Amino acid sequence: MKTPTIAIVGSGPSGCYLAQALRKAWPLAEITLLDRMPVPYGLVRYGVAPDHPGTKNVIRQFERLFERDNIGFAGNIEIGRDISLDTLRDTFDIVALATGLHGDRPLDIPGAEQARIYGAGRLTRLLNDHPDEQDFHPQLGKSTVIVGNGNVAIDVLRLLAKSAEEFDNSEITDEVLSRLQATPLRQIHIVGRSPAPQAKFDTVMLRELAGLCRVSYRVHDLPPADNDDDKAVAAKLDALRDLQAREQAELEIHFHFGWQPESLTATEGQQCFHFTRAGRETQKLELTTDSVITAIGFTQRPDSAFCKQGLSHAGADPEAGHLAPGLYCTGWFKRGPRGTIPENRADAKTVAGLILAQTDLMTTGKPGFAAMPESVIAQSVDYAGWKRIDAAEVTTAPAGRIRKKIRDTAEMLRIVNDIHQGEPQS
Ligand SMILES: Cc1cc2nc3c(=O)[nH]c(=O)nc-3n(C[C@H](O)[C@H](O)[C@H](O)COP(=O)(O)OP(=O)(O)OC[C@H]3O[C@@H](n4cnc5c(N)ncnc54)[C@H](O)[C@@H]3O)c2cc1C
Repeated sequence: MKTPTIAIVGSGPSGCYLAQALRKAWPLAEITLLDRMPVPYGLVRYGVAPDHPGTKNVIRQFERLFERDNIGFAGNIEIGRDISLDTLRDTFDIVALATGLHGDRPLDIPGAEQARIYGAGRLTRLLNDHPDEQDFHPQLGKSTVIVGNGNVAIDVLRLLAKSAEEFDNSEITDEVLSRLQATPLRQIHIVGRSPAPQAKFDTVMLRELAGLCRVSYRVHDLPPADNDDDKAVAAKLDALRDLQAREQAELEIHFHFGWQPESLTATEGQQCFHFTRAGRETQKLELTTDSVITAIGFTQRPDSAFCKQGLSHAGADPEAGHLAPGLYCTGWFKRGPRGTIPENRADAKTVAGLILAQTDLMTTGKPGFAAMPESVIAQSVDYAGWKRIDAAEVTTAPAGRIRKKIRDTAEMLRIVNDIHQGEPQS
């Protein structure tokens, strides 16, 4: 059988891991990773906190795909806007969707529509200089409530709690930082539905909070200290208890556990956030706040071109990653918005196995990237183009920063094209 031509839509972790797995099986197949952004790596660049450069280092692994394994990158092409999925499927034997899920899950309670609510996804994109959030100016005020008990909630908490000096060796830009710190926060409440022992965040994230300099913590709703048999739970509760050892400081952070969001009401420019807890008698918690940040998960954005169920043909198995003949999906788009970067690897391997098993039965021979519409090829940014953007970001990094991300897509494309034109023609 001839090797197939393969387009993977989305160059985040799941797209990269799928490309890696398929390359192992087909050393000579044409594999192209397409992305709507001129830059690769999805949430590794635009989700993972800018002060966690170690986590972003997984990029070094993905670079090998382009530099050693002959995988193509075609950025600045949005499937559904610049080219239809049908055209893409006519051009490539296999198309795999690895487009993630980028919408913030809405807080569905009475009063939410009138409240000053910001999604953690949007906020972390802003903090990571995503071009889509250039005009996003959140007004957090002096107090905010973060709803959620996962690692993303803790990321947001830490990023809001750090002083400017504590961002050394990060890639946050000063402009974003000053936008965020224009009104210094005095109080943050972080509220989760789970009781403390079941809270989803990792202990290591709590331990990191203990190092912040201008913050004091109050942890409410902790169970009495006893020797918990579950070592991981015991470590988490210890980390929460240790946070409380701090003196009063500029910014006070309150943890609350086991509270269900009930409603929001407006009072003189502020909001009153009502929570309840079911028990023998329903208990109530009320927090007055200037703003609310939701970190309660992700979903399909309403403007998204694709919906997994809508693309599934008869005989497909969307849960396994098969949508239609020659059309597959992986990562958050397939599994839902759960799990870490490495967890996408196992998923991509399984989907690659499925593709391999089914391709034996498939006709191959579609022409691949070179047969895409000329206008689309002309606007695309290849890996060399991305490396020029990368070099520009690294070389303009100010003192104390590892890069200065470019937030404007037009500016990214100018860097790609200017240098193109300056290059000697062979
Ligand atoms: C705020 C936040 C922080 C996180 N922090 C960590 C962490 O510290 N450690 C960790 O292990 N995990 C972390 N995660 C989880 C991790 O980011 C995900 O597991 C992973 O990124 C999911 O990979 P994915 O490839 O499925 O989706 P994504 O990373 O979202 O990649 C999807 C890609 O598809 C592209 N795309 C979308 N639509 C189109 C289209 N129509 N046409 C072309 N391209 C398109 C996007 O531009 C993007 O590049 C975090 C997640 C979030 C939201």
